Amino acid sequence: MNVDKLLRKNIRTLIPYSTARDDFKGSASVFLDANENPYNDPYNRYPDPHRQKLREMVSVIKGVRPAQIFLGNGSDEAIDLLIRAFCEPGTDNIISIKPTYGMYKVCAGINNVEFRESMLDSDFQINTESLLHLQDERSKLTFVCSPNNPTSNSLRKEDLLYLAGNFRGLLVIDEAYIDFASSPSLSDEISRYPNIVILQTFSKAWGMAGIRLGMAIASDEIISVMDRIKYPYNINILTQKVAMEQLSDKGRKDRWVKLLLAERARLASGLATLEIVKNVLPSDANFLMARFENAREIFEYLIVKGIIVRDRSGVALCEGYLRITVGTPEENDILLDALKKWMDNKKR
Ligand SMILES: *Cc1c(COP(=O)(O)O)cnc(C)c1O
Repeated sequence: MNVDKLLRKNIRTLIPYSTARDDFKGSASVFLDANENPYNDPYNRYPDPHRQKLREMVSVIKGVRPAQIFLGNGSDEAIDLLIRAFCEPGTDNIISIKPTYGMYKVCAGINNVEFRESMLDSDFQINTESLLHLQDERSKLTFVCSPNNPTSNSLRKEDLLYLAGNFRGLLVIDEAYIDFASSPSLSDEISRYPNIVILQTFSKAWGMAGIRLGMAIASDEIISVMDRIKYPYNINILTQKVAMEQLSDKGRKDRWVKLLLAERARLASGLATLEIVKNVLPSDANFLMARFENAREIFEYLIVKGIIVRDRSGVALCEGYLRITVGTPEENDILLDALKKWMDNKKR
């Protein structure tokens, strides 16, 4: 895997911004190097551009070396940086699956990079041959999502590894929901398949969507490219501080995941018993896809009841489906009760 050759030419030769703190290593007590205000501790200081302490904590949790970790302002930052590093606007192209998370396409569009989509099969798995058929010498990135949003299933490992072995560019696997999946992360595969980039986030299982912290796991070479082109201080001190506090309690995250998995099963069977629910897809994520005969009508009824779900009924392969995030036991009961009430009203 020649990362340099895959990069845009201007990025290959780019000299990154050097921060005041880059020029100094060690400990000091008088900081007169960054034109900071000496008052208002601790907010007056720029954050660590290398996010070193946080990186080390994440490294232990994820079982990969710190040099294999990029930390970003949500995984959305990693998506954007990969596109900007590897895709020449107006020339290169990106391949992805359909349906999937909308951000890959939007980000490609913002960067003026052609976006090619390979429809999933009716079992929501990748047709690897037709996806690879979209590849040409200008294909730099393939984005897939496993477990996939919105279809809630994991993609087959053998398909993903086959793609990694047969795609000339980078295969980006978005594992935002991996903590809820029955199969483990593919982060172990990056040594065997150096063109794999794994995206993960602290927004879902870790319950930190508000502080904006996402990550990429990849070879040292790919990570150093992302670090070179990010905003120097992309993770602010508030996020770094709160993340380190929260990450020190892994047990709490594991308890949440266990509870949410139990609720996912309970909500799925609760929905399945309702006459108006035609199907509930098996889920490897913290949400359920439920098909209704009149999805839009139910969606709007729920809004009136103060319950917001996501209407995916217009999405290809997801016709008639509402996407329902697994909430607390109380929230899930409120949803089930509201749906029962809707049926009772119809009968009368
Ligand atoms: C929620 C989600 C994310 C998380 O994005 P952040 O920017 O890290 O909050 C990433 N990918 C997918 C597919 C998601 O559904």
